[in-house]
Amino acid sequence: MAQVHGREELVGQITADEGRTGRRAGLWSWLLTTESREVAECVSELYQGEAVGAAPGGDLHVRKLHSRGIAVIVASAADVRHRLALEKEGGLVHACDGSRFLPPMLDEGKPCGCPDDPFERKAAARSGAGPRPDARLVFCLAAAPELGELSFQSSAWQLYESLESLSHKVERTGGPAQMELVLREQRLATRSGLDVSFSYPEVHTVRRLSVAQAGLHLAA
Ligand SMILES: [Zn+2]
Repeated sequence: MAQVHGREELVGQITADEGRTGRRAGLWSWLLTTESREVAECVSELYQGEAVGAAPGGDLHVRKLHSRGIAVIVASAADVRHRLALEKEGGLVHACDGSRFLPPMLDEGKPCGCPDDPFERKAAARSGAGPRPDARLVFCLAAAPELGELSFQSSAWQLYESLESLSHKVERTGGPAQMELVLREQRLATRSGLDVSFSYPEVHTVRRLSVAQAGLHLAA
C-alpha cells in the first residue's frame, strides 16, 4: 500500500527506534519501512542497514539503520508538521501549538486551554486528557535524493521541542532546507549496576538550500 502525501507518493517511512528500558548504552538506530527493495538496499548501504524481518507476503522491507544522524532535505514549510494533537475514537479532537488551536480545528486561532506549564502539559498528555506531540516531516535523503520522498513521524517531546524554532525558520525561508535528524542518548545506571539508556530523536540545524541545489533532486 503506497502512502500518499499531497501530489507525491512516499517511498518509505523512517522512525526512531526509541529504546526505553533494559538496553545497553550506545545502541541507537532508526527503522526504515519501505515497499521498494531498491530503496531498502540503497538506504541500507548508506546507514549500515540490517534486515529485521518482512511482513507476510514479502512486499514490505524493514531495515534497522545504524547511524546517529540522517541528513534530510525538506522541500517547503508544508512538509513540516509541528503540533500537539489528541485523537479520540479515530477522530482528531484537539490540534494546537500549545496555546491556540491550529487547522483543521474549527476554532483555529482561539485559545485551546492547554496548560502553560510544560510539566502540566506533559502530565495531561500522559493521562490521555491532553494532546501530545504529533510531528511529521516529509523529505528526501540528502545523501540520495533521487530515491524520492520519505516521511518521519514522532510523538517524542524532545523532537517536538527541537522542532519548535526550526519549523519557524523553514517557514521564514519558504524554500527548501537541509536539516539533520539526530538520535540523542541519555544513560542511566540501574541499582544492579547495569548501564541502560533511553534514546530519543531531535532535529538540528536548518541550512537553506538554493532552488537550484534542491530542485535538482526535488523536481525528479
Ligand atoms: Zn491545546
